[in-house]
Amino acid sequence: MGNYIRPRGTLDLFDADAQIFSYINKTASEVAKKYNYKPIYTPTFEQTSLFARSTGETSDIVTKEMYTFKDKGDREITLRPEGTAGVIRAIIENKLYAINDLPVKYYYSGSFFRYERPQVGRYREFSQFGVEIVGSNSYLDDCELILFISSLLKELKINDYVIRINTFGDLNCRNNYRDSVKEFFKPHISSLCEDCQKRFNNNPLRILDCKIDKEYLQTLSIPQTQDSLDEKNKNEFTKIKEILKDNDIPFKEDPYLVRGLDYYTGLIFEVDITLKDGKVLTIGGGGRYSCLVKELGGPDLNCVGFAVGINRIALYLKELYGKENYENKVDYYIMPFIEQATKKATAIAKILREKNYVVVVENGKRSVGSMFKYASKNNFSKAIMIGEDELKENKLKVKDLKTQEQIYVTLEDLLKGSE
Ligand code: AMP
Repeated sequence: MGNYIRPRGTLDLFDADAQIFSYINKTASEVAKKYNYKPIYTPTFEQTSLFARSTGETSDIVTKEMYTFKDKGDREITLRPEGTAGVIRAIIENKLYAINDLPVKYYYSGSFFRYERPQVGRYREFSQFGVEIVGSNSYLDDCELILFISSLLKELKINDYVIRINTFGDLNCRNNYRDSVKEFFKPHISSLCEDCQKRFNNNPLRILDCKIDKEYLQTLSIPQTQDSLDEKNKNEFTKIKEILKDNDIPFKEDPYLVRGLDYYTGLIFEVDITLKDGKVLTIGGGGRYSCLVKELGGPDLNCVGFAVGINRIALYLKELYGKENYENKVDYYIMPFIEQATKKATAIAKILREKNYVVVVENGKRSVGSMFKYASKNNFSKAIMIGEDELKENKLKVKDLKTQEQIYVTLEDLLKGSE
């Protein structure tokens, strides 16, 4: 080991782990393209007050988990703990809601930072892919997001998952619900953990999300969100569920789902998978928020969004399919047997790569025997051998390294044969 190790809660990703990451990000942006969402890149750090304002002064993220510091110009800066605040700030600052037709739809991915206790699937620097629809006035957009997640999971070959859904209804219903939860907990305050006693005053809904009081909460008949919904919001929730059913989305209602951030009103959801050891892992979540754009100084626009954790999806894919499955597969390994064949090897590699084949050229000093050992160790599919005869006759010896079958062909025939 050298003199330095990575900071606690961070990861070095390389080889297959890094390839799984690229694969998930690439798949996610391909799905985003099909839904016609545009990419957006925002800074990794923002003014601290942006997150305090949006995520909620009393949320766990703001009170306990932010990486905050003063820069050399004495500005309060925070490494972004989540994506929505920065994206909404950028949409307001650049007036993207005015330049484009509404709703505007963006996707982002990158690193996020939370000072959490590291464990499997929980890091201090982690990666998310997320989307936001801004200026959305229809529950169809809520459905679109859930369909988007299911398309993404299908593309990644993740079939076994559950989407837990709940709704706060609009701001009015949410406030009514908040009041009834507060009223309910009044006689139970002394039985709650220290954090929840504070939450009771600041943000009683967050009590429902408490990990410490989880078992105690299960013994209580806490009011459910549905009890505070009016007819309009109830109907909308029913319509959302109908669309999800019509599209075979594996969802279930979770009347106590509240999510960790302050800004949600309307539909909220989380996506769970189950690991082999039975542990349930939440790989993503999102929902509708109606006040954030205005809160941050923009117009009165309703939004919906979600984010999935790339690290957790990667963890699950590795468990499902094995990490070898995500390693680059080399189609052709070109072996120049003599010095004079190296030019030809380079030229053929160029042509094959232009045809989208993955090609490795032997540029080292391996003997013929070591070349074959190297090819077999790394699972290369085919070898192209070029020696004196091949140069003279302008042909290639191509060996299938799985079947050991060998052919002697011109490059044109090889390309034709593999079309
Ligand atoms: P959240 O907005 O907090 O629900 O985060 C959305 C998703 O990001 C979660 O479902 C996780 O998959 C992922 N995530 C959140 N925090 C972490 C973390 N500390 N480490 C790894 N992944 C995380």
